[in-house]
Amino acid sequence: MKYILVTGGVISGIGKGIIASSVGTILKSCGLHVTAIKIDPYINIDAGTFSPYEHVVPHITDAIQEWVMKQARVPVDDDEVEPQVCVIELGGTVGDIESMPFVEAFRQFQFKVKRENFCNIHVSLIPQPSTTGEQKTKPTQNSVRELRGLGLSPDLIMCRCANALENAVKEKISMFCHVEPEQVICVHDVSSIYKVPLLLEDQGVVGYFSRRLDMHIEGRPRKML
Ligand code: ADP
Repeated sequence: MKYILVTGGVISGIGKGIIASSVGTILKSCGLHVTAIKIDPYINIDAGTFSPYEHVVPHITDAIQEWVMKQARVPVDDDEVEPQVCVIELGGTVGDIESMPFVEAFRQFQFKVKRENFCNIHVSLIPQPSTTGEQKTKPTQNSVRELRGLGLSPDLIMCRCANALENAVKEKISMFCHVEPEQVICVHDVSSIYKVPLLLEDQGVVGYFSRRLDMHIEGRPRKML
């Protein structure tokens, strides 16, 4: 099983859901069996209703990992085949207090399932204030630093921006976030969200997953939505 975790930085509503589903769509169109998990990081069990001899679980991070592994194996296609890839969207923004147990669970999880089976897409914002018209990288640098501080390192930084990323900006993100330029993906605002899978495919995302997750994906996607 290959796990692709989608995290978000800077602001909520940045486009994690669209990116997670677009990644699933392009991998599916390559002939892979893909499932998805959306995590809304709220833990809302009232401990006061438990007997003092009862515990939710002693280790919530273990429970999260077990739950993810169990859900990922549930067939979702008509042919009832077990999925090969699970795209996990972690709701909220990295650094939010409510998502901390989930981030920690995935920090442990990446070692449990081994490097070739887990990767992280971090969705970040590149604002372009109208006063200067410049695309600003600082919020992304801070967000990636925060993510790394929690023990997750982005394999792909997906930059949400109003307009296509300028080359110099892409190089700056690469330089200051310690990733190769090919790991910086531009996901600018488009007229229809159905264009996002094509945007990702055009920037070599399929080839990247193929190498990074050792998946030997054959050729280009057969059919795009
Ligand atoms: P999140 O999962 O981070 O809360 P969503 O994926 O729900 O964010 O996206 C928030 C809103 O932004 C949605 O209305 C979505 O359609 C829109 N959106 C996301 N990505 C793009 C894009 N590249 N171009 C235009 N609109 C987008």
